[in-house]
Amino acid sequence: LASSALPRPVARVIDEFARLPGVGNKTASRLAFHLLRADREQARALAAALAGLADGIVTCSRCCNIAEADPCPVCADPAREPSVVCVVEEPLDVLAIERTGTYRGLFHVLHGAISPVDGITPADLRIRELILRLQSEPIREIILATNPSLEGDATAMYIERSVRALPDEGIRITRLARGLPIGGDIEYADEITLARALEGRRDV
Ligand SMILES: [Zn+2]
Repeated sequence: LASSALPRPVARVIDEFARLPGVGNKTASRLAFHLLRADREQARALAAALAGLADGIVTCSRCCNIAEADPCPVCADPAREPSVVCVVEEPLDVLAIERTGTYRGLFHVLHGAISPVDGITPADLRIRELILRLQSEPIREIILATNPSLEGDATAMYIERSVRALPDEGIRITRLARGLPIGGDIEYADEITLARALEGRRDV
C-alpha cells in the first residue's frame, strides 16, 4: 500500500494502478504523479473513460463478446452468415479478423485459453456457451482461431474433442492455416497474413 505520508486521494490512485497487471508500485506512482501534474481535464477524461468501462459494457449473450448492447452489432447484423462461427480467445482477436474485411460469419469469444500453469481450466472459458450454441443454432462450421501457442493449441484441441463428443450433427471443424508467427497473437497479425490463414483453413 502507498505510504500514509501521501494525501489520501493520491495514495488511492497509486494503489488502484498498482493492482493492474504489469504495473508495479513504481510505475503506479509515476502515473499518479503524472496525472496530478497534468491539467485537470486529463484526469477527468481518464476517470470518465474508466466509469464508462464499468457501466457501459455488456457481454453479448450469443457470442460472449463485449459490446455496448446485447446482442452485439455482429450478432445483430442479418447480413452475417449464421452457419459459420469463428472461435477466438479475446475480443481484440474479433477486431483483428474484422479488419481483414473478408470474414462474413459470426464469432464466439472464449475470454482466454486453457493454461494449467495459470490455473485456467476449460470451466473458466466460455466453452459451455459454445457447445450450447452448437446445439441450438444452425451452425455448420466452427473455425478454431485460437492463438498459435501452447495454450491456444490445447484450447483448440479441447474444443475439438468436446464437439466430436456431441451426437453427430455434421459440424465441420477447421483451424486457421499455419503461417501465423508461432507464439504470436492473432490480434497482432497483419490483415493479409490473417486473411490468408482464414482462406487456407484446414479440417482438423
Ligand atoms: Zn454477439
